[in-house]
Amino acid sequence: MNLILLGAPGAGKGTQAEKICEKYKIPAVSTGNIIREALKNGTDMGLKAKSYIDAGTLVPDDVVIGIIKERLAEEDCQKGFILDGFPRTIPQAEALDNMGIVIDKVIDIEVEDDTIAKRLSGRRVCLNCGATYHLEYKKPEKDGICDICQNELVQRKDDKAETVLDRLNVYHEQTEPLKGYYEKKKKLVVVYGQEKVEDTTNLVFKALED
Ligand code: ADP
Ligand code: ZN
Repeated sequence: MNLILLGAPGAGKGTQAEKICEKYKIPAVSTGNIIREALKNGTDMGLKAKSYIDAGTLVPDDVVIGIIKERLAEEDCQKGFILDGFPRTIPQAEALDNMGIVIDKVIDIEVEDDTIAKRLSGRRVCLNCGATYHLEYKKPEKDGICDICQNELVQRKDDKAETVLDRLNVYHEQTEPLKGYYEKKKKLVVVYGQEKVEDTTNLVFKALED
């Protein structure tokens, strides 16, 4: 099963991608995570991407398309995959089509802008294991410390209030048109993000079974 998760930053794509990954045993592929990993390791690609990520703008299409092409060619993606954070522009979606990859479903997780803004600015992440938390909605057991690996939690630069609004604008301008793109192809399923993660997960699972 080849899936795409669509939605604004902070709509919960990453969390739902993990749930689908557990249930269907297919890898979750997050371009954001791949790029942040490259940044941490100081690779050429990471250096190229840094200024865009920090500013909340999109990394150029050719860079991310290259990343995805390589990643989807790997062995573990041959039985299926969940794309989280790709495609984010129409040219990226077209590139995916041109790779000869057939997408089964596109799940669009809808969340209101003001909810998104609250979620992103309260988000804290563990740079060591990638776990995410929230100051109000998903507190770690010990303040500021990762439950899984005890590392210190930090705020992503692009989760700062000033940048969040820019990311939302970028989403509406460049990514949201993908809804129409996949609706025309009859692939789009809309799921409304619920307050509780499990409730959204149930809706996502149901959408996958239909
Ligand atoms: P979120 O979904 O929380 O915004 P991601 O981790 O998916 O965050 O992405 C963080 C940043 O990485 C984006 O703001 C962008 O700069 C870059 N990025 C990730 N995926 C893509 C993509 N498909 N195209 C362009 N830039 C991307
Ligand atoms: Zn951790």
